[in-house]
Amino acid sequence: MDFELTKQQLKLKDSVRTFCEKEFDSKLALELDKNEVFPMELYRKAAKHGFSSRFIPEKYGGIGEGYLASCLAMEEMCRADSSLGLACMIGTFGSDLLLLKGTEEQKNIYLPHLCRGDSISAAAFTEPSRGTDISTVDTIAVKDGKEWVINGTKTLITNAPIADFFIVLCQTGSRELPRKSQSLFIVNKEANGLSVTKLSNKMGIRCVTTGEVSFKDVRVSEKSLLGKQGEGFSYSMEFFTISRTSIAAQAIGTAQGALEIAVNYAQKRESAGQPIIRFQQIGAKLAQVATEIEAARLLMYKAACSIDQNKVDPMLTSMAKLYASSVAVRAADAAIQTLGGYGYLGDYKVERAYRDARVTEIYEGTSEIQRLAILKQLLKSY
Ligand SMILES: Cc1cc2nc3c(=O)[nH]c(=O)nc-3n(C[C@H](O)[C@H](O)[C@H](O)COP(=O)(O)OP(=O)(O)OC[C@H]3O[C@@H](n4cnc5c(N)ncnc54)[C@H](O)[C@@H]3O)c2cc1C
Repeated sequence: MDFELTKQQLKLKDSVRTFCEKEFDSKLALELDKNEVFPMELYRKAAKHGFSSRFIPEKYGGIGEGYLASCLAMEEMCRADSSLGLACMIGTFGSDLLLLKGTEEQKNIYLPHLCRGDSISAAAFTEPSRGTDISTVDTIAVKDGKEWVINGTKTLITNAPIADFFIVLCQTGSRELPRKSQSLFIVNKEANGLSVTKLSNKMGIRCVTTGEVSFKDVRVSEKSLLGKQGEGFSYSMEFFTISRTSIAAQAIGTAQGALEIAVNYAQKRESAGQPIIRFQQIGAKLAQVATEIEAARLLMYKAACSIDQNKVDPMLTSMAKLYASSVAVRAADAAIQTLGGYGYLGDYKVERAYRDARVTEIYEGTSEIQRLAILKQLLKSY
């Protein structure tokens, strides 16, 4: 067993770090957070370096280094800045589904544009009345000749206001057959009847845009079906099992960034004539956080490796997301406490890290659902 990253992986981490040092600006981050604006120019620059397309094979315009590489880039980005970093990685969200289930034609149409950063994807499962349980959905697709007609609403969709296309989970069969009666469709933003409303006032990750997407008699061709009819639910679960590992990476980067700010601050800030890091209650808290981050990182690496080796382990990916997201919230909280009153102000980044960390416990399956998924695997094993 070798716990060292390869030279190529270390080089990738270095190049992301260099990019962030050059391109990230804390004033810009504050402004975008305040105004909830996506940094499109920055995203495109990051995409040109291939940071958001590490896992996409070269033949579709990606870098083809696999999922661990993609997670390393995500971690390093979010370490530098918890929301600018995420924004630089988010434009290809959902494209794993295309890779997993798309035809060659679909992959060739969509992936190269995504890799170049001149197109953005979104994946729409959640609806106003259901997020966790999507074994049946209210968005319906009905076959009409050689077309499908889609009606319904998806909400809380990442990238919706800026997406060029959507992968949409629709009911295509009887509700009496939950999990076996749904299909995925690729819908371009220009489709007649498709409309998007931006959702504002998020707690965190505010420079990543989120929206509601409505479909009113939206017609798509047969070729828009992704994979087989009736398999949409199982494809979606397959996708989440993989993609939640990158949420773990987002959480770990956020936690690491907050820890580094806290350790630096605690060495400089004095109280009662000595740096506060010398107070056992502060030093021990940060040591505990550092330990938890490292444990979360190892879980995430192991989960990502299982994906790269085509041996995806659903228990590991759930464990990685469950643990890393809770560590991120604890790490940001500890950083705020270490910075005292300044930690509570936006200027010091840890307040934002705390807000940005929180969503990792919610999206791509809440922590409650990760525990259920882990339990399901435990029951199979013992
Ligand atoms: C910023 C942001 C971005 C998002 N991006 C996307 C996106 O791009 N695409 C997309 O489709 N969705 C997206 N979502 C939606 C997200 O995936 C859902 O919010 C999440 O799955 C939870 O669903 P819900 O909000 O409907 O909560 P509910 O399903 O109503 O759950 C509410 C609470 O009940 C708990 N609960 C529900 N069922 C169970 C159960 N069986 N056992 C135990 N506890 C349970 C949940 O854990 C939660 O605590 C996003 C959400 C946010 C906040």
